[in-house]
Amino acid sequence: MKGSTHLAIGLVIGAAAAVYHQPTAVQSAAYIAAAGLSALAPDLDGTNMLSAKLSGLSRAIHRGALGGGAIAAAAAAYLYATGQTVPLLLVWVGIPLMLVLMSVSSGTIRNGLVSLVGIGLAVAGARGGDVWLIGLGAYTAWAPWLKHRGMTHTVWALLYWYWLGREAESGLDIPGLAVVGAAGYASHLVADTLTSLGVKWLYPLYRKSIKLPFF
Ligand SMILES: [Zn+2]
Repeated sequence: MKGSTHLAIGLVIGAAAAVYHQPTAVQSAAYIAAAGLSALAPDLDGTNMLSAKLSGLSRAIHRGALGGGAIAAAAAAYLYATGQTVPLLLVWVGIPLMLVLMSVSSGTIRNGLVSLVGIGLAVAGARGGDVWLIGLGAYTAWAPWLKHRGMTHTVWALLYWYWLGREAESGLDIPGLAVVGAAGYASHLVADTLTSLGVKWLYPLYRKSIKLPFF
């Protein structure tokens, strides 16, 4: 199912929560943002709207590493051939790093970038003592390495997301945030269940995917 469809469903849930709770403008925005983000979050285990921008960046890094590696190797060879000292940083850090970036796919680089964002969130959470931000960071750092429609598309992940919401709800003092976030997350799993691929809701307890192919 397309990210834009998931996002649209999430935004409707957020808007419904805003109407139901009749909160301040800030709280309304938080409901809509939380529901939209939650509806997209399960697909952090693959290419998705949240990391689409990073896909372009990782392709650029991949290409840059190819060019940079060639230039660095040529520079090192030139310096060596002309009897000059070759900077150790270039030999031991620059060239190996570029070799690694060249040898992995741009998808792996993108996953690494998503994980870096997650680590950044977790560090920010640790600094401010925000448990939910640490949890969100851990999820973001971990999800890209999982099999698509695997662990993030289970009731266990949904429960974790609800717990995150509870923490955020008390931390940010926005009543109802946990339910809104869980509803957004659940909407994603339900929508994916309506596709032919289905969702392994109870993985790994029950390994088969559950589907009601509608689309
Ligand atoms: Zn999905």
